[in-house]
Amino acid sequence: MNLSKDMEGYLPRAALEVVWRISKGASQCGERVYLVGGVARDLLLGRPNFDLDLVIEGDAIALAQQIAELFSVRTSVYSKFGTAKLNFGSFTIDLAMARNESYTKPGALPDVSPGTLEEDLFRRDFSINAMAISLVPDSYGELVDPCHGLKDLRRRVIRILHHESFCDDATRIWRAIRYEQRLNFKLERETSRSLKENVAMLNTISNDRIRHELNLILREEYPERTLCRLSELHALPEINLSLEERAWLARKFQEARFQYKAGSLAQLYLCLLIYPLTQEGLTRVLHRFNMHGRRAQILRETLNLKANIFLLEGQMLKRSEIYHLLKNYPQVVLQAGAIASDVEAIRSRLNLFLSELRLVAICSTGDDLVRLGIPPGLEMGEILEQLLDAKLDGKVKTLVEEEELATELKTTRAGTLRARHRKSRI
Ligand code: ATP
Repeated sequence: MNLSKDMEGYLPRAALEVVWRISKGASQCGERVYLVGGVARDLLLGRPNFDLDLVIEGDAIALAQQIAELFSVRTSVYSKFGTAKLNFGSFTIDLAMARNESYTKPGALPDVSPGTLEEDLFRRDFSINAMAISLVPDSYGELVDPCHGLKDLRRRVIRILHHESFCDDATRIWRAIRYEQRLNFKLERETSRSLKENVAMLNTISNDRIRHELNLILREEYPERTLCRLSELHALPEINLSLEERAWLARKFQEARFQYKAGSLAQLYLCLLIYPLTQEGLTRVLHRFNMHGRRAQILRETLNLKANIFLLEGQMLKRSEIYHLLKNYPQVVLQAGAIASDVEAIRSRLNLFLSELRLVAICSTGDDLVRLGIPPGLEMGEILEQLLDAKLDGKVKTLVEEEELATELKTTRAGTLRARHRKSRI
């Protein structure tokens, strides 16, 4: 099957030109280069994919450097793996040397050695990801499909390439379900059996690798489908979701998508995913996915907000009180709280803070207050805070009104201090 015409319709013009140059550059050195993996699969499915993976039977880094120079683009080189990435802005190209892999023990990274294209395809996860399109001039556009990926694409199945696949690398369990749910395919019978049999092998996967796979899931268009299915298969033991929680998650993720832009959803999804957990449950998740720093802090804050969210139900809360209850939480945590809660008063107050209160600022500056005779220090800090409260509660609007209130506050404070002083002398 020749796909050169399909490539012309599928790849952006600029990408086609680069691919053609790479093909020419490689053949001048007597090397053979191929488009592989996701892009071949997605081209055949007619799904857009602008991360082009290329495999070369030869020196990937030298070729990448030659192309980077020709097109004046940046290249990142990973000499240890014999790979390089070229970033063209609207699309990227990953170049890797064709490799052969063997696993010494389950879950470990494989031993890698240079190989042929066929060996490179046979080491892959699923048949639909093990196809290549030749960029060799004499066979330009020919589909190379030794694992029968095209047949599986037509049958709409995910199939592993050998019996030990999930045992060698159990991240493939998560990957299989991710593709199954993304493409709405089925697991081929033997693959399904082997997957269920090897679920416990997920324990052999390091925390960092499993976190990487979780991140890939969270970047899917409908991550809840994969998460719920994994949970059903007991392949997500860290976050055990009951049937009810799965339905809850699906509703809440849907709502998150409805309210926020696609690019910013991964963190929000994660907050919603851990929302049903206890503090101990979250500690286990943070450990399993090796999450530290800001990301872990955001998840801890999500459960803190959940524990205190009832405070937002108070009937007579002033706008300034809502502000003080919420001002120290990261924005994404508040977004998660608003989506997760089913109590209307809580949702509307969180949304009020997000859309309005957090943006309120007073017109006065420290210099304005100095002009009014208020020296920098504790007193000024307190007056600035009271001005903000007054602004939040709609008691002042303009700079003039703020200055009047600041003067009034200064006078009252001075009076209170004098009275306190007299009392302490008596
Ligand atoms: P996506 O559309 O999700 O980006 P992709 O197919 O490009 O899909 P990557 O994770 O970028 O996926 O991986 C590139 C290719 O490397 C895959 O198509 C697959 O052939 C191979 N691959 C990735 N991870 C594994 C793995 N754990 N075991 C075997 N092959 C893998």
